[in-house]
Amino acid sequence: MRHMSNGSVTSQPIPSFLINPNPKYPFREAIAKLPMNGIHTICEEAKCPNRGECLPQHGTISIMVMGSICTRGCPFCAVTTGRPKPLDETEPQKVVDIAKALNVRYLVMTSPNRDELVDGGASQFVKIVTALREFNPALKIEILVPDFEGKEASFQVLLQNPPDVIAHDLQTIPRLYGPIRPGAKYDRSLNLFRWFKANADSSKVMLKAGLMVGFGETEAEVKEILKDAAEAGVKFFTIGQYLKPPGSTLEVTEYVPLERYASWTEYGKEIGMTVQASPLTRSSYLADRLASAKA
Ligand code: SF4
Repeated sequence: MRHMSNGSVTSQPIPSFLINPNPKYPFREAIAKLPMNGIHTICEEAKCPNRGECLPQHGTISIMVMGSICTRGCPFCAVTTGRPKPLDETEPQKVVDIAKALNVRYLVMTSPNRDELVDGGASQFVKIVTALREFNPALKIEILVPDFEGKEASFQVLLQNPPDVIAHDLQTIPRLYGPIRPGAKYDRSLNLFRWFKANADSSKVMLKAGLMVGFGETEAEVKEILKDAAEAGVKFFTIGQYLKPPGSTLEVTEYVPLERYASWTEYGKEIGMTVQASPLTRSSYLADRLASAKA
């Protein structure tokens, strides 16, 4: 594929395999009717291409808790960097209200980095999980966690009432951490998985990692990450095409061809890890199917 001189392909038409044909208006209508009370959906905020599919067909939604201001400033992300507001004690009930109103069966929640908090927000995650479990014990819950600056005390807090899935995005290959994921360290993220592998009950808590592609990484570099993640205890891995969200400054370098995703999925089988790789894959895409594959 021919690249523009600035390394971006965004002036080219988006390939058809990056368009999810499911109509998005039912999701938008459902969200518009709700008092979201300051809780944002990743689905809408990131203009995710799958929002016509996940909630209507899978009962899955991805929300951001603990505000919308992040203490870090990664260029692929449109979340505002700055000083976050104090935590909201009523947030657990607000999340329950949303899950109830939308008839959510699989809830993914993430947060901005809250490095200013002693536990990085781990105890707030636990409070929300506890409220959701009391509301509906059958609801599947996935937490997409920040790296908590590698603090094991924060990891320990999550195990007070663990979700079904603990997910953490590796985002990109280590070679590109400097420009794409400043403030994070590849080994620190792997150590998070290693810690949960050693300390969590693997029959109850599944470990999941994710990666975006389209930044110029090679097929072999991605395989190296898959291998590292599998060794660190990750059982499920998602790989999808990066698309520049509104407000992001990071351009797409390449629309990754389909055969490369197939190669990564096959490699996952060789190393004992389920790899969901496709252009439209996001860390929360088809999360219900991946989670049910643990049985
Ligand atoms: S892939 Fe994730 S962010 Fe996108 S619509 Fe589905 S649940 Fe929402």
